[in-house]
Amino acid sequence: MRSETAEKSNSNGADQATLAGLLIEAGRDFYGRGWMLGTSGNLSARVGSEPLLLAVTASGAPKGAMTPAHILQVDGFGNVTLGEGRPSDETKLHLTVVRTRQAGSVLHTHSVWSTLLSDAFADRESLVIEGFEMLKGLSGVSTHAHSEVVPIIENSQDMEALSLALEASLMKYPAAHAVLLRRHGLYTWGRDLAEARRHVEILEFLFEVVGRRHFANTAGAE
Ligand SMILES: [Zn+2]
Repeated sequence: MRSETAEKSNSNGADQATLAGLLIEAGRDFYGRGWMLGTSGNLSARVGSEPLLLAVTASGAPKGAMTPAHILQVDGFGNVTLGEGRPSDETKLHLTVVRTRQAGSVLHTHSVWSTLLSDAFADRESLVIEGFEMLKGLSGVSTHAHSEVVPIIENSQDMEALSLALEASLMKYPAAHAVLLRRHGLYTWGRDLAEARRHVEILEFLFEVVGRRHFANTAGAE
């Protein structure tokens, strides 16, 4: 049976309906914290690997008030296999991360701090975060002394070009847990939805800490 195949290859250990419920819950949570206001951002979780099937938010879905109808299923080409409507415009980026990182879930937020920092550090092509206890919340990190390099890529409305830039960045920074899109937002992922959600929380916390410090310092210098 198809459901059994999906279960075996699914790092989330859940079917489309269950994952849809979890994505709705994540959207409500992120919206409540101001990380996904309006219809901004998008969320996905892998339902199956062979063939690749991804539960993903529909284009224009209100992130604080999604219903099961707002969660579609797409195949590895981004074609809708379940549900009505158009998947998020950034579905291609989700598929790129899933393939390049073998991710079970990809989450994309538009927070104030990621928007500001991705612009402030764009010239350096990355934001380096080190010395904070909260870094240990990132998968595989066991010490506050860890140096997390978050690459920053230029934003674009050309999803084909953006997807190629994202893939190049993921290859160039194999240890990175996230990528920032300039003046746009955060992409992070995990082996499953729970881990990806944790990464969003940890990174958004660190962005606020680094951001408050950075902008307090630069304000004083001016
Ligand atoms: Zn976006």
